Amino acid sequence: MATLSFTEARRVVLERVLVPPTPALESVWLTDAIGRVLAEDVRCDRDMPPLPRSLRDGFAVRSADLPATLPIHGEIRAGQMPQTPLLAGQAISIMTGAVIPAGADQVLMKEHATRTDDNIETARPGLAGEWISAAGSMAKSGDVVVPSGRRVDAAAIAMLATVGRSQVLVTRQPVVRILATGDEVVDIARRPNPTEVRNSNSWALAADVKRFGGRPEILPIAPDDEKITRDLIEYGLGADLLLISGGVSAGDYDFVEVALANLGAEFYFDRVLIQPGQPTVFGQARGTFFFGLPGNPLSTMVTFRIFAEAAMARLSGVAHPELHFSRAAIESPYAHRPGLTRFLPGLLGDNGATVQILPWQGSGDIPALVRANCIVVVAPDRETWTAGDLVQVLTA
Ligand code: AMP
Ligand code: MG
Repeated sequence: MATLSFTEARRVVLERVLVPPTPALESVWLTDAIGRVLAEDVRCDRDMPPLPRSLRDGFAVRSADLPATLPIHGEIRAGQMPQTPLLAGQAISIMTGAVIPAGADQVLMKEHATRTDDNIETARPGLAGEWISAAGSMAKSGDVVVPSGRRVDAAAIAMLATVGRSQVLVTRQPVVRILATGDEVVDIARRPNPTEVRNSNSWALAADVKRFGGRPEILPIAPDDEKITRDLIEYGLGADLLLISGGVSAGDYDFVEVALANLGAEFYFDRVLIQPGQPTVFGQARGTFFFGLPGNPLSTMVTFRIFAEAAMARLSGVAHPELHFSRAAIESPYAHRPGLTRFLPGLLGDNGATVQILPWQGSGDIPALVRANCIVVVAPDRETWTAGDLVQVLTA
């Protein structure tokens, strides 16, 4: 079966999982819209701004008059309609956000004028349009200001509120079923004996599914038994997306791929040149996409972020899911054997300018992950980095 590089594997996910042609939709209140995917083009209901507005506290003037000493004729406050036009050789005191009076084509910032009694004096040259936001200059009535398919963030909420939308149409959140596997994995309500581990993956995945806009459903833990694994996977395939953790390595008791094959699965890759997460599996069975994520907690979380999240985004109606990397200078030299893209727990410092690769015990080291505030992405085609070299960083 297919072994792919990180970039190729991500491309395969995005080639396979497309935005559903007729996604289920629902209407939500603006307060509940955060993180959801808009299912309608939201348009401006009037020009923005509707009338020319001042961008500064200062004086409405005619640019042709400047520089000059001008008498002040009244004031315009935010929310007021100007009562008189500005005549040549005059200034009107104006506040930020207030409507520009007819006849004015420049706002003189307060800081650029010296006020003496009822006059202002300025050396500022005439600059037509300065500090004026022209009517319709941000958006015109009828313009699409938040497009369908856009995930709603605080900026989109501000725009939706600006156009008076208290309810918006969004896509239904995909239901993502989560199946942990492993004889040694026990429910968190149980006290594990020393050979067992508590099931952290289902909870971590559920948290990330929720955070990235899906509805998680945690299934009972599957022991390393082919029949039970198959039955639970079959149930899991009734969701919009199935995430399985563990059981995808080459061990004698790794039954996930066998169980999937028995259910008629089509596999698109089952090995990726990444670390952690090398045995990641992606495919489709009974019309539902699934990921088999390696069971080590860091592997599970990293592979969710770099692959499964994109699939979930597509199923939610996002046309162009993106992974947002930033760059930071590594604080100490680093070397690795090229070939694998590595994802390492990192600590960003200095306002994100520098990053330290944290010591860790491998992909089961949850305490190291908790100490980290980012994942450092080490390129597969390079061997050494010296302190100060830029590396890619994936933040929470
Ligand atoms: P596997 O991918 O099944 O070989 O699992 C690799 C290792 O990950 C196991 O030895 C466990 O220690 C750990 N592991 C697997 N599943 C979970 C889980 N649900 N929660 C926490 N750790 C897990
Ligand atoms: Mg296992």
